[in-house]
Amino acid sequence: MAYDKNNIFAKILRGEIPLKPSEKIYENEFVLSFYDINPKKKIHALVIPKGEYSDLDDFSKRASEKEIAELIKGINIVAKKLEISINGGKGYRTIANIGENGGQEVPHLHFHLFGGEKVGKMVS
Ligand code: AMP
Repeated sequence: MAYDKNNIFAKILRGEIPLKPSEKIYENEFVLSFYDINPKKKIHALVIPKGEYSDLDDFSKRASEKEIAELIKGINIVAKKLEISINGGKGYRTIANIGENGGQEVPHLHFHLFGGEKVGKMVS
């Protein structure tokens, strides 16, 4: 699928839809993290790459080794910052929805991080 530059996360990355300081969790050269607008658990964060990738398949195919490593590290940095990682917290779940059957709504790769309470069944 070609990358849609008009998706909401692309607009957030370009600063066209600014995040309030309270919404932003973490940012570096490669990733941005912010709270999900419609939280499904006590803590529900999103981690996205700054590059234009529509989903995990696209990312695996086109991203550099550095971008791939930084995204995985970014998830861990955010989990630690939110105190939901197993180092300092009680654990969390991360998922990426991919495409129609995966239930992906925003066509910019993002990992959801759920925590702060028991997350429950893996798939309902
Ligand atoms: P997915 O179904 O995996 O594509 O998830 C997209 C997620 O993005 C949903 O959980 C939405 O609540 C969330 N979302 C959509 N717009 C925004 C926004 N402006 N800020 C934060 N989260 C958003």
